Amino acid sequence: MILKAFKKAYITIKRIGRLTYPCMSIDRICLGNSTAQWLKSKNVLPSQWGLNLDRQDLILTSGITLLAFNSPGCTYLVPQPSGVLANAKAIVLFDTYVLEDAGLSSDEIIAMLLHEIGHNVHRPPKNFYNQNSIHLGSNADEELFADDLVRHWGRGLHLSACISRLASFDKTRFESLLTQERLRRIKDDDAYLTTIPI
Ligand SMILES: [Zn+2]
Repeated sequence: MILKAFKKAYITIKRIGRLTYPCMSIDRICLGNSTAQWLKSKNVLPSQWGLNLDRQDLILTSGITLLAFNSPGCTYLVPQPSGVLANAKAIVLFDTYVLEDAGLSSDEIIAMLLHEIGHNVHRPPKNFYNQNSIHLGSNADEELFADDLVRHWGRGLHLSACISRLASFDKTRFESLLTQERLRRIKDDDAYLTTIPI
């Protein structure tokens, strides 16, 4: 009986807390800024789904998490690795549908995966290249450094073939100054950004 009353009081306090503090919002099921930003840009944040508090509670207590996936590949950094992911500090996600439909060869898929790995093991120092690459977009130095890992590891030409194939598969996503610059650098043996050992 006392336990029941406690439970009821706890749920009431939790609900009042959620109404009072926006940080308790169901939107916290969005993992990473890019997930929340994309959902917000489409007006589909979980708080905009019109769910009543019971349904929000069900989602929250079930531990559901939303994570945007950027095709053809992206990396999710695991903040506190544990359980089956105990050794997973970063998870590389890749889109099998796009990789198959774009007709990538085995070598090109390996180059693409190494590029994603490069994002995690060969990161540019802050603002390393920004002053030169600002016209290419804010993530240019990240992309170029990830490409450099693939080049240093002897798969540069497979990477350029991979990028070209993806670009003809999906013109709107890959037609950019950055794509052109990446292809130019990969083919130019001397165009290394850095002597940082890989
Ligand atoms: Zn990348």
